[in-house]
Amino acid sequence: MPHYRYLIVGGGMAGDTAARGIREVDPIGTIGLISAEPYPPYNRPPLSKGLWKGQTLEDIWRDTRSLGVELHLGRIATSLDPGKREVIDNQGTLYTFEKLLLATGGTPRKLPSGTGAEDRVVYFRTYDDYQRVRTMAAAGERFAVIGGGFIGSEMAAALTMNGKRVVMILMEEGVCGRLFPSGLARFVTEYYQERGVEVITEDAVMTVEGCGEKTVLQTKAGRRIEVDGVVAGLGIRPNTDLAEQAGLPVDDGIAVDEYLQPGHPDIYAAGDVVKFYNPLLGKRIRVEHEDNANTMGQVAGRNMAGEATPYHHLPFFYSDLFDLGYEAVGELDPQLETVEDWKEPYREGVVYYLEGGRVRGVLLWNVWGQLDRARELIAQPGPFTPAELKGRIPA
Ligand SMILES: Cc1cc2nc3c(=O)[nH]c(=O)nc-3n(C[C@H](O)[C@H](O)[C@H](O)COP(=O)(O)OP(=O)(O)OC[C@H]3O[C@@H](n4cnc5c(N)ncnc54)[C@H](O)[C@@H]3O)c2cc1C
Repeated sequence: MPHYRYLIVGGGMAGDTAARGIREVDPIGTIGLISAEPYPPYNRPPLSKGLWKGQTLEDIWRDTRSLGVELHLGRIATSLDPGKREVIDNQGTLYTFEKLLLATGGTPRKLPSGTGAEDRVVYFRTYDDYQRVRTMAAAGERFAVIGGGFIGSEMAAALTMNGKRVVMILMEEGVCGRLFPSGLARFVTEYYQERGVEVITEDAVMTVEGCGEKTVLQTKAGRRIEVDGVVAGLGIRPNTDLAEQAGLPVDDGIAVDEYLQPGHPDIYAAGDVVKFYNPLLGKRIRVEHEDNANTMGQVAGRNMAGEATPYHHLPFFYSDLFDLGYEAVGELDPQLETVEDWKEPYREGVVYYLEGGRVRGVLLWNVWGQLDRARELIAQPGPFTPAELKGRIPA
């Protein structure tokens, strides 16, 4: 029966950085990590970016073992007893712990059941998904990408840059339409079209059928799309099953306090699965981005090892869309009032997202090194007029 001073459930980026955070404070305490994936922790962002642009596979591994962490891979933690401090995995192994971290991340959302041959759709998230799409891309020529958010837009660009013909199907009016104001989303959509991507907007996939080697999609608007492979990015659902089974508080994520604890003195949570209060935004949020997974994982690890650091960080996020790139912080909701401050329209500039004159989010479009200024602006009560914001963060 393995016993660890620190037990981590989930071998993603949050699990890995938690182990690093623990080691910064406690160089010798035993650490065990259980992960459903058969691989040690790796960086996910290259799966839809760098690996399609020449980055090598060796670069993605995080070398968690070198911290003296015992890895239990290909195992799913199925039961947690907070009182006995016990976890059981799907192979019946029982682990005991002094401190536990839940870093279980999220599972891709799927097309509604009854849609059809879903085993032909890669709901893109893992290393295995990357390998599957690589194999498909080696054999096929035309691909459907469902969804115009982060994963869909990046995978459409990645496949196109690798010589594939891509048709994107999205429900929104344009690529990244849930993040960007309509003019920018329109520009990005045209940018994709100019690079050869067929973009079908305001439509939805209704059925997926195998037809020999091909896959056929039928859409709500009556389109029939025949492709060699299908990749989908429809968002994720936080993996809260274990926390729920253990009676920990769950509300669209594991609900934690500022020390990243869900109401038990020896249990912590970090990463995509966590719902936390952010003082700058003045509300509880759940964030599905790398900076959050890394920074929160590290704080959780240090706290597990005896510190009591509150997590007040407002994470940033970023993406690459062909050769367009951006960083952003806060709430990017195009339903909010937006103020666009372009140095060169849609090429370089800053977009502010406001609610009642207060800045809630900042998009730094091809503008770098300004995240702290953006955070400072979000911290200010305002109210700001559009004229006061222009030039506030220089492009
Ligand atoms: C393709 C891709 C590209 C991305 N690009 C960017 C980007 O450009 N910028 C950005 O900011 N963010 C990006 N992200 C998001 C970022 O990678 C995530 O926010 C981050 O990986 C979340 O880490 P996590 O450790 O919280 O969760 P996850 O990465 O989901 O890891 C959780 C791990 O726990 C395992 N697990 C779950 N339940 C159990 C259980 N019961 N027992 C054992 N193991 C379990 C899972 O199998 C998984 O291995 C990208 C994500 C993807 C998928």
